[in-house]
Amino acid sequence: MGRYVYDFTKGRRDMADLLGGKGANLAEMTRLGLPVPQGFVVTTEACRAFLTSGTEPEGMSREISRHLSAVEAAAGRVLGQPDGPLLLSVRSGARFSMPGMMETVLDIGLNDASVVGLAKSSGNERFAWDSYRRLVQMFGSTVMGVDAELFERAMARLKETRGAPDDLHLDASDLAGLVETYKDLIHDATGDDFPQSPAEQLRRAVLAVFGSWNGERARLYRRREHIADDLGTAVTVQRMVFGNLGPDSGSGVAFTRDPATGRSGLYGDYLSDAQGEDVVAGIRNPVPLAGLERLDPASYQQLREHMRTLENHYRDLCDIEFTIERGKLWMLQTRVGKRTAGAAFAIAAELVDEGLITADEALSRVSGDGLARLMFPRFDTTVTGDPLAHGLPASPGAAVGAAVFDSAEAVRRAAAGEKVVLVRQETTPDDLPGMVAAQAVLTSRGGKTSHAAVVARGMGKVCVCGAEELTVDTGARRFTTRGGTVVEEGTVISVDGSAGAVYPGEAPLVDSAVMRYLETGTCAEQSDEVVDAVARSLQLADRKRRLEVRANADTPEDAARARRFGAQGVGLCRTEHMFLGERRKLVEQMILADDDDTRERALDALLPLQREDFVGILEAMDGLPVTIRLLDPPLHEFLPDRTELAVRIATAEAHGDLPDPHDTELLDAVNRMHEENPMLGLRGVRLGLVVPGLVAMQVRAIAEAVVERRRAGGAPEAEIMVPLVGAVEELRIEREEVERVLAEVSAESGVAVTCPVGTMIELPRAALTAGRIAGQAEFFSFGTNDLTQTTWGFSRDDVEAAFFSAYLDKGVFAASPFETIDREGVGRLVSLAVAEGRAARPDLTIGVCGEHGGDPESVRFFHGAGLDYVSCSPFRIPVARLEAGRAALPETGPSDSR
Ligand code: PEP
Ligand code: MG
Repeated sequence: MGRYVYDFTKGRRDMADLLGGKGANLAEMTRLGLPVPQGFVVTTEACRAFLTSGTEPEGMSREISRHLSAVEAAAGRVLGQPDGPLLLSVRSGARFSMPGMMETVLDIGLNDASVVGLAKSSGNERFAWDSYRRLVQMFGSTVMGVDAELFERAMARLKETRGAPDDLHLDASDLAGLVETYKDLIHDATGDDFPQSPAEQLRRAVLAVFGSWNGERARLYRRREHIADDLGTAVTVQRMVFGNLGPDSGSGVAFTRDPATGRSGLYGDYLSDAQGEDVVAGIRNPVPLAGLERLDPASYQQLREHMRTLENHYRDLCDIEFTIERGKLWMLQTRVGKRTAGAAFAIAAELVDEGLITADEALSRVSGDGLARLMFPRFDTTVTGDPLAHGLPASPGAAVGAAVFDSAEAVRRAAAGEKVVLVRQETTPDDLPGMVAAQAVLTSRGGKTSHAAVVARGMGKVCVCGAEELTVDTGARRFTTRGGTVVEEGTVISVDGSAGAVYPGEAPLVDSAVMRYLETGTCAEQSDEVVDAVARSLQLADRKRRLEVRANADTPEDAARARRFGAQGVGLCRTEHMFLGERRKLVEQMILADDDDTRERALDALLPLQREDFVGILEAMDGLPVTIRLLDPPLHEFLPDRTELAVRIATAEAHGDLPDPHDTELLDAVNRMHEENPMLGLRGVRLGLVVPGLVAMQVRAIAEAVVERRRAGGAPEAEIMVPLVGAVEELRIEREEVERVLAEVSAESGVAVTCPVGTMIELPRAALTAGRIAGQAEFFSFGTNDLTQTTWGFSRDDVEAAFFSAYLDKGVFAASPFETIDREGVGRLVSLAVAEGRAARPDLTIGVCGEHGGDPESVRFFHGAGLDYVSCSPFRIPVARLEAGRAALPETGPSDSR
């Protein structure tokens, strides 16, 4: 067997890394005995070799010729032979599906001679010339780099001269003329001729598909979907079959279940007398799959059987592309289909009920990202009024934005911070940047399998497609409803992707059904299969997971909500927000005090207020741990802005007035405390060590709150956490102070208050000396926000806006390290600190409370690193529970769907 090329009969589903998803699945269908046109796959390895060296890999052409001979022998025809030629399709197919993002060339093998042969053998001259003009057009733009617009304009001109409303009204001689026009276009643009040699066509098409891996569209899509840049694409070369041979032919797309809702049944679109790309492009509106039953009952029955075979074999929703050539059904593609977040939950639960998969497998097939999407609000249909139009609910959710009519405008406005809805007749892969930038996509044509629908679903973007009541005029930048309402560019509209409706203005939102379930623990809508499925997944995840899930919450309300969402405590109660508002004055007094009495008075005034804060949170989390962090940010954050003060003083002076002495005093203090790099300055434990009385006041407030809750019959479990420790000595000194105050309050109250004292690990030095620090800490909590900041040397407040998009573009990282833990760097420090901390103190409790605690990918890492809990914002708690459960499942290998 060769190195670069595999026959379909030699491949398998699990070879997707090498054969790409499409190639591997075609091989699998061939093995299952389904009717697949013969073909072979040029591997991703060949692509990688080509992309690295820029030249065709040694021996690849020979291998292709050998496999081509086998296809020719099976077909009894030779590629491009003048009488009744064999024709080939050349299609991309990467490991992960990237719909429409790379190139395809169809009808390879046609030339000036074989087109005549094809006309004869098919008995259809128009078809032969139409196929030839498709080849010249696709080859010209894809392989030879001619602007695709030029071909479209030539076609439009011809239709205009002939008075033809669409291309079906052009006859064979029109199309033959068009082929000549296209060839001239190519010659004028490139100085080269369209190649007549079928072998050369094939060779160049394969290399062009390889090259399209690095096209702009494909790169943008990969970045969004977090697909690695170095995988490369395979190329599938397959005997052409034709759906455009007349009314007994056609092409379709089918799903074994509804990819929007998950409901079982056969879903899809069929377009008679058309090739596959016509269906997906949304050029003519297809009929629902059920319509095929009337048109061609025999093929329909076969298709149903093949779909059943595939779903049972893949044990999942499959999407399928098929062609019927003169009454004969051919299967052209299958894969485990993309689906909406809700459908993913519903399908997984149904497949368990049908006995096709285990509950564990079901859990592995849903995701925290999907759950997060289901928690978004939806429109309140009781008050939305009449919709502007209805369309197909292609990708669910509720989105509001200004209508824009092309991709560039969407990108421009979104970059300026505006929310937009991209409105098109239909979308093409060129619209991808606009789709990424938009809140929602609305099209007037195309079915649920149109480009807009498929891509939007893949991205989790709201989409309504095929809203035929709308006349979209992209030139005039407006659409008109059936009732005559005109919506100009920039007008705000609301798009309901779950119901398939478009409303004028900003429609009001209500909580989603999943959110209501999470808030109340009950499902309001009886028998909502998505909510039921979410509930089942979360219950299973809770049984499976080893990681506990706590909340980052600073108020009793947040703590209570987090508890309803399933939080098992508070992992981070930041105390800085408690020093704002009315209390700022007291903090000011404390900072400005130049004698102990004044300072103590300020601290004494703060004490009862702080105590009440803690009482509320401890009550909301009664019986569960609440980790309270001592004050962290630089103190000047609590003082007025330096420039504002200076301006106030200067203005007073300019008016000949005496500046307010308080302002002058404040400015002095602000100037004294000014730091060039406050995040690296006097904050965290350093504050506790140098500002007298601050730690004592906070600890007293905590201890007294514990006493109060105990006396009220509660079970408070406060833990005291010291931020930004870099050296064990810092923690030892602070700890002494904490213990002194705890002992004081215990003695005064007669209630023994003991709180575990621990530290955040958020500086590299803390991680590197974790063994020593553990000697003074009963728990660690990784502050991965600061740990990322200080490990990378990235200012967390500045860099994301400044240059992260350039870094993402250049592939320095695939995701922001502030969102997803950088396993190689920050993750390594985490693992080291866990190992050394536990070695020094085996019962050390370890958690994480940086933003990463609610990020699905990072939760998996923390599970693997052996943490005890993750802590995240209340709304991320269900996501973290689910992901912690998934992380605990045994490895099942990569899944096909993304
Ligand atoms: C952290 O640094 O990860 C953390 C939780 O603390 P903060 O974000 O408050 O600095
Ligand atoms: Mg921090």
